Amino acid sequence: MAKKKKRRQGPGQRILVAAVAVALLAGAFGLGWHFGVESTRFRGNILLVNESHRLEADYVPDELVNLYQQRHSFRLASSEIMLTRQTYEAMERMFHAAEEADMNGYIVTSGYRSYQRQQEVYAQSEPGKAQQPGASEHQTGMAFDVTVETGDGFENTPQYSWLMAHAHEYGFIQRYPANKADITGISYEPWHYRYVGVDAATRMHQTGQVLEEFLGGNG
Ligand SMILES: [Zn+2]
Repeated sequence: MAKKKKRRQGPGQRILVAAVAVALLAGAFGLGWHFGVESTRFRGNILLVNESHRLEADYVPDELVNLYQQRHSFRLASSEIMLTRQTYEAMERMFHAAEEADMNGYIVTSGYRSYQRQQEVYAQSEPGKAQQPGASEHQTGMAFDVTVETGDGFENTPQYSWLMAHAHEYGFIQRYPANKADITGISYEPWHYRYVGVDAATRMHQTGQVLEEFLGGNG
């Protein structure tokens, strides 16, 4: 039988143990940062949300407003749609300008979606048709879906062309263009717009970059 030796830990050993623990923790975070699923991330003041940059389950944006209760120069598919106040205000300015240009008939169909709601959407969708909970931009309260009443193909309407020409002037980008699915991870969604602010939207409009490219890094 082996005798147990009682050894006293000297201060040097304790420091070594602590240093190893710190190194392991740092390594784990480092690996998570580069290869794992990253959590909420702002770059500058822009929040990037996609499959590899997910929001926490309890992430709820500040200052959500119900669009139905605000002045709105657009139609609403339901009285429950919410967005952040900043996004709503920019969007109202945009659709008001569209109206002034005789461009009418926009119907907003979706806005803020909670993590829990996205879980339901994901569970009810065919594989690959909906984003995982936490990976949907709708959880930011800064993205909305819009269409018009003319059946199929919003992308073939003058309302769509107007948005493509002017959305950036109000701080919006078309988030999932047709030719960028390999970068965004999402196939063409002519109906989905995201608020990023006028400066960023204008630069992206000029360069043709999507948000992942604009923000750089390993997006
Ligand atoms: Zn959408």
